[in-house]
Amino acid sequence: MNATSATAPAGVAENCDVLVIGGGPGGSTVATLLARRGWSVIGLEKERHPRFHIGESLLPMNLPIFERLGVMDKVRALGKYKAGADFEADNERGYNTFDFCRALGSSPPHAFEVYRQEFDQMLFEHARENGADMRDGERVTQVEHEDSRQHVATVRGADGEYTIRARYVIDASGRDAFLAGRKKLKRKNRKHQTAALFGHFTGAEFRDGEHAGNVSLYRFGQNGWAWLIPLRNEVMSVGVVAGPDHFKQRRGDTNAFFFDMLKSNAAMWKRLENASLIDERVQATGNYSYDARRIGGPGWLLVGDAFGFLDPVFSSGVLLAMSGAEHAADVVDTALRQPRREAAMQRRLEKRLRTGMKRFSFFIYRFNNPVMARLFRNPRNVCRIEQGIISMLAGDVFDNRDVLRRLTMFRTIYGINSLLDFRTWFGEWRERRRQARAAYVD
Ligand SMILES: Cc1cc2nc3c(=O)[nH]c(=O)nc-3n(C[C@H](O)[C@H](O)[C@H](O)COP(=O)(O)OP(=O)(O)OC[C@H]3O[C@@H](n4cnc5c(N)ncnc54)[C@H](O)[C@@H]3O)c2cc1C
Repeated sequence: MNATSATAPAGVAENCDVLVIGGGPGGSTVATLLARRGWSVIGLEKERHPRFHIGESLLPMNLPIFERLGVMDKVRALGKYKAGADFEADNERGYNTFDFCRALGSSPPHAFEVYRQEFDQMLFEHARENGADMRDGERVTQVEHEDSRQHVATVRGADGEYTIRARYVIDASGRDAFLAGRKKLKRKNRKHQTAALFGHFTGAEFRDGEHAGNVSLYRFGQNGWAWLIPLRNEVMSVGVVAGPDHFKQRRGDTNAFFFDMLKSNAAMWKRLENASLIDERVQATGNYSYDARRIGGPGWLLVGDAFGFLDPVFSSGVLLAMSGAEHAADVVDTALRQPRREAAMQRRLEKRLRTGMKRFSFFIYRFNNPVMARLFRNPRNVCRIEQGIISMLAGDVFDNRDVLRRLTMFRTIYGINSLLDFRTWFGEWRERRRQARAAYVD
């Protein structure tokens, strides 16, 4: 089947077992796995690959998924080796390296950074090689559910509009959240809202030796943070993330505002002062955090960002999308054979994903909190807690009990430190008040 053209004559619907909306990592993964199990799969991507996408830093726990998909060599060929993550620190060189090889358990000792246009295109074509009918430049504009195994999608493509009948619909449309939006299931995360500005640079300073591919994270201002993600060909992806209040301060030029944020952290700016932007303009996105009230229903399921998006700080998005897609393939495969098991399997998948997201979100919501910043600046491996944090950074947040125990210990230490901080702050506040009263009486 040609990748970009529909086969059915005008007015006649095509049929398939599974329709996948979206050709990002989530969509291509689930399409590959279901096609391999013998289902007829049509995957539709509204853009044409290769297309730019943000989200370049991958986690070690992505690697076992690449192995299972059979794309490990392809990822190795297009990726930049990533040995760990750097955070600012109170030591002589100014940063700590959390090396993935020190993680607890069996997560791989490294990851990769990728140009997403290459990575996503590779996964999309891999799905096609595995038997899925993957078409790009085709946008789904409507989905009607006639009954639990009869769904009709309207598609607008290069040759006009056509319809597809599918027994199952998987929405992997990313932050468009196609089905969650139309079903009014999408809800904004009230605790956490951020936006980002980003661009690619040449001439930035990389870490030395095997750490040249480390992702580096910096804090700036009250609630801002920034990423430096090394890519192939000596390119550095640089982004700043902050709350909407920070972005409201912008007066005038976006590029100038972006550079002001980069300059506000001296250590980060030192690595960028001789670098230049590759594209003239920086890009912007509101990555306001959201999720869907539920992950699926009879004959439909949400995968990846179409179900929920947290925050980019720990580079968890692609892993959550691909891991969710693997489990989604099991759910759909079973549901098509044994419909009675569908609801329970969807609930189990939803619970698993929410639990994983919650484990990341504890750190995400508190990333700029002074106590969290202090603990990251001065990590100590008491009871292997630092190694547990490295496992979290590797994406090992689902099944490893050793890691989960360390994350619980870290949360306890964080709680005690916050309490001590509060007591210090409260004592100082009381003293200031006493002095002010005394001054007033004098
Ligand atoms: C600022 C920022 C930085 C990030 N950094 C990282 C990072 O470093 N590492 C990381 O892992 N994650 C990162 N992420 C998150 C990451 O980008 C996503 O989590 C990941 O791409 C999700 O994959 P997906 O397949 O669910 O969705 P996507 O990759 O978004 O793919 C969805 C696809 O669906 C297509 N589509 C949408 N609507 C339709 C339609 N109606 N019909 C047909 N096709 C449609 C879109 O064109 C798109 O190609 C970042 C996110 C942001 C906002």
